[in-house]
Amino acid sequence: MNQKKKIIIIFFGPPGSGKGTQAAMLGEYLKLPAISLGELFRRESLRKGKLAKTLKEIMSRGKLVPQEIVEDVMDKRLREKDARAGFILDGYPRKKIQLEKLSERLRKILKPDDHALAILVDVSDREVKKRLSKRRVCACGAAYHLEFKPPRQRGNCDFCGGRLITREDDKPEVIADRLKLYHKENKPLIKYWEKQGRLIRIRGEQAIGSVKKDIIAALKKELK
Ligand code: ADP
Ligand code: ADP
Ligand code: ZN
Repeated sequence: MNQKKKIIIIFFGPPGSGKGTQAAMLGEYLKLPAISLGELFRRESLRKGKLAKTLKEIMSRGKLVPQEIVEDVMDKRLREKDARAGFILDGYPRKKIQLEKLSERLRKILKPDDHALAILVDVSDREVKKRLSKRRVCACGAAYHLEFKPPRQRGNCDFCGGRLITREDDKPEVIADRLKLYHKENKPLIKYWEKQGRLIRIRGEQAIGSVKKDIIAALKKELK
């Protein structure tokens, strides 16, 4: 793939569709940072102070973090050096105002030949529930699945050895609310990319490696 041009990729998909997993793998492949807003918030929530407390409370209920905090965190992250050649976003934008903010940012940083594409990882609500009930995560950001992506050593992260935990928001009641929120907020965002002819739809209900292959094949066509 021609990497001289800037590449921006935005992942869409319900919670548990495998966006984070695929964004991280694609980041390694394209040598671009995969930026997960949820991950940045989770990391912040482990610190001390008022912001951490607010984030913890909101995230454990599966609600969206207030807009000022979102844009603040995004601004800081996108100003880092590693994002200059492009970046992969997972979990942003999640509402219309965020799409508007992102479009503004892209207008400033993209030249006519650069690429901005969206990837929708399509997965049914039923599959989401199956995946999230057995998701385990590490504080370093790595995610596992007890059946489909087990860690090498039970209960510990392959990368850093950290203890794996279940996310507060992966409880069945919260999953149902997050799905509702996703269906309500995301449809117009996906339509926007579709209208522009810049949406790649990927069948998410396949093994992790097959989803990855489909994503790379579709990107190769687009990023000529
Ligand atoms: P998201 O970022 O969309 O919330 P994750 O990447 O964290 O989703 O994936 C959700 C859960 O499903 C994790 O436990 C992950 O290991 C698992 N998973 C990801 N992709 C697949 C797949 N294609 N098949 C089965 N399980 C998957
Ligand atoms: P998932 O894709 O599994 O829903 P994420 O890790 O992307 O989970 O997000 C976890 C939580 O972080 C969300 O439920 C929400 O509270 C917060 N969050 C993530 N992205 C955003 C966003 N773009 N706007 C507001 N809140 C967000
Ligand atoms: Zn780890």
